[in-house]
Amino acid sequence: MTDDADETTAGRDPADALLVAAHEIRLGILRALWRAENHALPFSDLRRAVGVRDAGKFNYHLSKLEGRFVTHVEDRYELLYPGHRLIDAVQSGVFDREIEDTEIAVAGACRDCDGDLVFTYREFIGRVRCRDCEETMLGYPFDPGGFAERDDEAAIVRAFDRRTRRYWRSGTDGVCLVCAGPTEVALVDEATTLQALDRYDDHYASDQPVVAAVDCQHCSFYSYVPVGVVLLGHPGVVGSLFRRGFDVRDRHLWDLPFVVDADRVTLAETDPKRVVVTATPAEKLAATVDETASIAEVEGLVG
Ligand SMILES: [Zn+2]
Ligand SMILES: [Zn+2]
Repeated sequence: MTDDADETTAGRDPADALLVAAHEIRLGILRALWRAENHALPFSDLRRAVGVRDAGKFNYHLSKLEGRFVTHVEDRYELLYPGHRLIDAVQSGVFDREIEDTEIAVAGACRDCDGDLVFTYREFIGRVRCRDCEETMLGYPFDPGGFAERDDEAAIVRAFDRRTRRYWRSGTDGVCLVCAGPTEVALVDEATTLQALDRYDDHYASDQPVVAAVDCQHCSFYSYVPVGVVLLGHPGVVGSLFRRGFDVRDRHLWDLPFVVDADRVTLAETDPKRVVVTATPAEKLAATVDETASIAEVEGLVG
């Protein structure tokens, strides 16, 4: 990062921003504006929405938010983009929502023992695992917001799939979905991965010869992504599968063999690493993935 880029954050201490917002009334103001039509309200309506009788006290707290999280336009107060993002973080539920340990039956069978699959949720991590042998097919953090406004268990599981897919696809494509910063992507082998993951005794892709290590250069986001996920971003692969009657949108990630099956991933070269991921063995649709987890070559495309 250049000094110039650093300049943009000059005078804006993040600790200061968090302190400014760390008050019940101030969070109430942000929340009320977020709920309001066009995210804007006149002073008296805003005060009523937050439920503070004392106008002087209310005005004091509102003034603390002005300029950074809230702006005053004509006779109304409006939520600024940083205000939205702060409320987004709160609404994700990670600070205040506790989800009990959850187990939801999902379609499909364990590739090892043919047992039933379940989606489990514990300490912010969603996992799809086998009920019998406890093999984990896939795991990734999932915000408690994923359970909000959804009564249908299948919808929760679908949300976990869709969201994990986005984070992994964007991360392997160089863009962090958490902070918009650049990610560094490299294929790493089992030894490296397991060493880095020694606290995960049940990591999901440990039987694959390599996984894509995705590391944001700007925030704390990192992930180990099954290499097959990058095939989902290649229009030729997705299109060829579609013409063969296989729509990648109809299956969850753990139901896509080229994502979860170790025998679909072959180490072709070791230095630099290149792997071949086979989408459909019968038709020989396969992609060669280079050391940066980019697709270098595809065979077996259907035109
Ligand atoms: Zn099993
Ligand atoms: Zn990031």
